[in-house]
Amino acid sequence: ELAKSIETLATDLNYLKRERNEFLASISHELRTPLTYIKGYADILLKRNPPQEEREKYLTIIVTEINRLNLLIKDLFELAKIDKNSFVINKEKIDLSIFLKEIERKLTPAINEKNMNFNVHFQNNLNLFADPIRLEQILLNLLDNAIKYSKTGSLVALDVWKEKKSIHFLIKDNGKGIPEKDIPYIFNRFYRVEKSRKRSLGGTGLGLSIVQELVHAHGAEITLNSKEQMGSEFEIIFKENEK
Ligand code: ADP
Repeated sequence: ELAKSIETLATDLNYLKRERNEFLASISHELRTPLTYIKGYADILLKRNPPQEEREKYLTIIVTEINRLNLLIKDLFELAKIDKNSFVINKEKIDLSIFLKEIERKLTPAINEKNMNFNVHFQNNLNLFADPIRLEQILLNLLDNAIKYSKTGSLVALDVWKEKKSIHFLIKDNGKGIPEKDIPYIFNRFYRVEKSRKRSLGGTGLGLSIVQELVHAHGAEITLNSKEQMGSEFEIIFKENEK
């Protein structure tokens, strides 16, 4: 019995070590890539004194890569806090109609920019016990993705309803969808469907992993339904809607 438990523990420990090493390798890769670009273009600017037009192009790339680094560091910091369990969930009673209108307002510029429609549906008089800052972070992250991975002119929807004691959030888009083979890994840190640096979209690949951690920290669940070229549906269920 005991030998068996020790064996299981050793296997778990090895697994954790491997996971940690992979995570560290991903971080250094993700940090190094933008730095390589920044250094490369800064060198050209310094040594070759290129014409104005090229200078602007290089500086734009440098600023883009610095922004990417900034996002990455922000997300890593967030994950570090979650890993240390040093972040607290401050649950309070949230009036969802007020809360969801605010979410809608915050997303309007991004929606308008892509000429999209945003349908928000919710039952009246819904309250949820959750951390409002974290809930906003969860929803904005998922809705940002829904906008980012959809075509101009398409539709994004947010439905919120109560079912028995639980509150459901459904975030839906008709965007590019997620291939079946990627779905099992999509909440993993740094996992992206489009892996190449040439990908036109996408941030750090940490967003969904942070969302999942925040959902779990509330004792809630998140599931994904998606079909390539058809769209994606993320559903969050807050089961026991109490303090
Ligand atoms: P990223 O910063 O790359 O958006 P996320 O962790 O938020 O990272 O998402 C991981 C990957 O999941 C994305 O790179 C993208 O390939 C895929 N993805 C996430 N949301 C959607 C969506 N609504 N539609 C299609 N693909 C999505």
